[in-house]
Amino acid sequence: MKLLSTIHRVITEIQKDAEKCIRCNLCVASCPLIPIISNNLRADPRMLSIDILRDIYRTAPIMYDSLYYCTTCMKCNTVCPSGISITRSILMLRSLTMQKAIHDKVFQIKFFIKSLLKHKNPYSAPPNMRCIWANNIDFKKEVHKSRITIWLGCTTSIRTPTIAKTTYLSLREILGNEVTLLGEKEGCCGKPALLIGDENAAKELLSEAVDTVESVGTEILVTPCPACYSMFKSGVKELLNKEPSFKVMHYTEFIHNVISQDLINLGEISEYGKVSYHDPCELGRGMGIFDEPRYIINKIVNGEIVEVLESRELSRCCGGGGGVWAFHTDLAMSAAVYRLSQFMKQNVKALISACPTCYLNFKYTIMTHEIPVKILDISQIVLKSLQKIN
Ligand code: SF4
Ligand code: SF4
Repeated sequence: MKLLSTIHRVITEIQKDAEKCIRCNLCVASCPLIPIISNNLRADPRMLSIDILRDIYRTAPIMYDSLYYCTTCMKCNTVCPSGISITRSILMLRSLTMQKAIHDKVFQIKFFIKSLLKHKNPYSAPPNMRCIWANNIDFKKEVHKSRITIWLGCTTSIRTPTIAKTTYLSLREILGNEVTLLGEKEGCCGKPALLIGDENAAKELLSEAVDTVESVGTEILVTPCPACYSMFKSGVKELLNKEPSFKVMHYTEFIHNVISQDLINLGEISEYGKVSYHDPCELGRGMGIFDEPRYIINKIVNGEIVEVLESRELSRCCGGGGGVWAFHTDLAMSAAVYRLSQFMKQNVKALISACPTCYLNFKYTIMTHEIPVKILDISQIVLKSLQKIN
C-alpha cells in the first residue's frame, strides 16, 4: 500500500509540473546530451520529463535507458520559462522505475546499490583504497579530533589521487595540525544512490556519514567534491530533516575566505599560458558557487584568463554527472569532447575546474582524443602557489 501511495504521489507531482509546459523546446536546445545523441529521439529533456506521462507504465520501461542519459546538470531547469524542474522529474522517474521494477535492467541498478551500501563507495573498493593516494606523504591513517575536517569523497580519494593529495597538502600548509582527514573511516555521502533513484539508500549512507564527521568533533567540514558538498549542505536538511552540527564549506569557499582575509601569502603562477574555468554543474547551478573559484584563479594566475560563452549559470556540462560516467562512459566522453572544443576555440592551454568528476571525465577524454589542453583541479594551482612562497 505504501509503495502504491508513493508512486501515486510521484506521478501527481510530476504531472502538476508538466501541465505548465508551453512546449517552447528551450530545454531541448540547452541539453548538453542532445548534440551527441540527436538520433535518439527518446532522450530529450521534454520527452523524458513531460511526454513520458502520457502513458507512464507503457512508456517508462521503453524510456528507461534514456532516463540514465541525463547528467542531472540542471541546465534545462535554468532555461525553462515555466519554472519546471525537469531534472527533479527525471530523478523521480528513475526512483519510480526502481520502486516499481518496471524494467528488467533494474537488477543492475539494485546490484550497484547493494555494493554501494556494502563498500560505502560506488567503486566496490576496500576501505584502504581511500588512503592509497597518501602512500608517499606524511599522512597518519588514524583519525584525530580536530576543528576542521576534510571530507575527500569517494571519487576524490579513490579515483583522483592527484586531487586528494593537493587538497590535503594545501589545507595542511594553511592549517597545520588543526585539520584532519577521516581516512579509511570516510564513507559515502549518498549522492550516487540519490542520483540513480534510491532515496532510502541515500538517507542511510548520508546519516552514517554525518555521524562519522560529528564523531571527531568537527566544527567545519571542507570538501573538494561538489556532490558531497551539496549532500552535507542541503541534503542533511532535505533528506534527514535536521541541521548538521558543523559548518559545511566547499574547498573553493574555504580558500576564498582565507585569501580575502589576508590569512595566507600566495605566489603567482604563469607557466600554464591562457587559462579558463569550467563551472561544475553541481557547484555552480546546484549550489550557487560561481565567484569564489574565479576569485582564487584571479589572485594566483599571472596570465590571460578567459571565459567561454557557456559559463556560470549557463555552463555546459562535462557529461560525467548523474551516473552517466558510470553507465554510459562513451556518452560522457563525447559530451566532454564537445565542451573541450569550446575552450580550444579560444586557444585555452589549461582548463581549471573544482570537481573530481569533471576532472576525471576531462582527463580521460583529453588522453583518449589527444586534445592539446591541460586539465587542472583548483587545489593544484593553490598548492603550487603556496609552495612558491614557503
Ligand atoms: S523549457 Fe520548459 S516550457 Fe519549454 S518545452 Fe521545456 S519543459 Fe516545456
Ligand atoms: S539535466 Fe542536463 S542532461 Fe539532463 S535533461 Fe536537463 S539539460 Fe539534459
